[in-house]
Amino acid sequence: MVERNTERRDEYLMSVGKGQLRYSRQIPLAMMGERGQNILSESHVLIVGAGGLGSVVSSYLAAAGVGHLTIVDDDVVEISNLNRQFIYGDAVGEQKAEAAARFLRKVNPLIEVRPVNGSIQDTELPWDEYDLVFDCLDNNESRMALNERCRNAGLPLVHGGVDATKGQVFTSIPNVTACLRCMLPKGRQDRIPVFGPAAGVVASVQASEGIRVILERFPPLTGKMLLIDISDYSFEIVEMERAEDCPVCKKG
Ligand SMILES: [Zn+2]
Repeated sequence: MVERNTERRDEYLMSVGKGQLRYSRQIPLAMMGERGQNILSESHVLIVGAGGLGSVVSSYLAAAGVGHLTIVDDDVVEISNLNRQFIYGDAVGEQKAEAAARFLRKVNPLIEVRPVNGSIQDTELPWDEYDLVFDCLDNNESRMALNERCRNAGLPLVHGGVDATKGQVFTSIPNVTACLRCMLPKGRQDRIPVFGPAAGVVASVQASEGIRVILERFPPLTGKMLLIDISDYSFEIVEMERAEDCPVCKKG
């Protein structure tokens, strides 16, 4: 009986195609359809930072069938990461980008994942290959470097940040919206406390926003910042204006 069911399942898989079955719960969505699914499978997304935000963003993108993912991180997995970076349960001591790639290939073997062990400041990347970039970093110094590269390459950037129970998400489109330099303070913040679920909420909103950018389905945070505090579940969206004196926006 079991054998026959297995045979039938294999036949079914072959008749409908692995991809169609895998994505059968999302293709009916109004924003998706077969067309949207094909657009996702042809997209190349760069995720910078594979920590509490990047590990969750990349998981959702892989599961949704974004065909090409590049993940950049220069860190190794530490045990203190695991309260929010749960994809690394078996990878303490490994390079994050590589451990993430291994996990994501298991989540979806139909996609291509490229790990890059390095920082955004020191790594040469093929910027003209990407359709979208995610800022999943944990310090503003690297964010400013990423912001400038995305503006130079004309790439949309979905920013996420988290601090204890608070978080924020913002979508920056070159020549249309403010950039990260317009609004974020400079400098570095080290080892801020992070409530795991806050990172999960921010990363989920980032993934949703990014998929909408790829599909050109009116990402609600274009030029707007979502401010979240899950200590009282407050969500607020504020309009972000370009700073008059922003050197990055002026150059564009
Ligand atoms: Zn700017």
